[in-house]
Amino acid sequence: MKLMRFGPPRAEKPGLVLEDGARIDAASFGEDWDERFFATDGLKRLQAWRFLDGAKAPRVAASERLGPATCRPSKIVCIGLNYKDHARETKAKIPEEPIIFFKASTAWSGPDDDLVLPRGSVKTDWEVELAVVIGRAARYVARETALEHVAGFVLHNDYSEREHQLERGGQWSKGKSADTFAPFGPYLATADEVPDHQSLPMWLTVNGETRQKSTTANMIFEVPHLVSYISQFMTLLPGDVISTGTPAGVGLGFDPPVYLKAGDVVELGIDKLGRQRQRVVASR
Ligand code: ZN
Repeated sequence: MKLMRFGPPRAEKPGLVLEDGARIDAASFGEDWDERFFATDGLKRLQAWRFLDGAKAPRVAASERLGPATCRPSKIVCIGLNYKDHARETKAKIPEEPIIFFKASTAWSGPDDDLVLPRGSVKTDWEVELAVVIGRAARYVARETALEHVAGFVLHNDYSEREHQLERGGQWSKGKSADTFAPFGPYLATADEVPDHQSLPMWLTVNGETRQKSTTANMIFEVPHLVSYISQFMTLLPGDVISTGTPAGVGLGFDPPVYLKAGDVVELGIDKLGRQRQRVVASR
């Protein structure tokens, strides 16, 4: 299944994307895609609803805004330097253990919403990433069973303000957490839809020019490793998000570096997970 949300910001309604690409309104299912939904086997209930009532559900107009694919999670855990080529371009050592940092959940944003530059920003940068949504609470989970805790996968742009991230005395979270810095969607594809999540082509363009082009096969630490690893340090709740890191081609990696300015258009995608488009606007 593909789960999405649509409507005005902070008043989104739940919906589904069908196999033929049509979007249906799932409000009559009576639940949103939140912690409780995932924790109580909501995906199974939703599957039953889709078979019984899906055909009768109203269609969602193509003009409707898409919201973040799931409700704002309790936490967004990000992985740093998880692609060898990206570690190299940032002149960092290949990490021996996953590097983790947090992104404030208030950065939550729709896949095609504007990217608002933070006040005074001069180094706002892009990062196409495969994000994992947790389906069952994970605490001290073994690598072998880690995928049982995954509900599905989502396209994520882990926007980063490099000056705030790297030149303001730490931690990275400062440069990762501005409002609109986590476009999440267009939909969550359940894990059964993407058994090949570790070999998906991914790309990102700025103003039509290719900046990132890679595949999730280039990850250093794969998804089961990450779920297991993070769960040794904290409990991952249903609905929580792990963003698994970005490949080479970020603005910081250029010589000289290239950063975003108002008026730029960023587009990105991962096979099977759809695409996003953000217009960059000045700080408000
Ligand atoms: Zn990232």
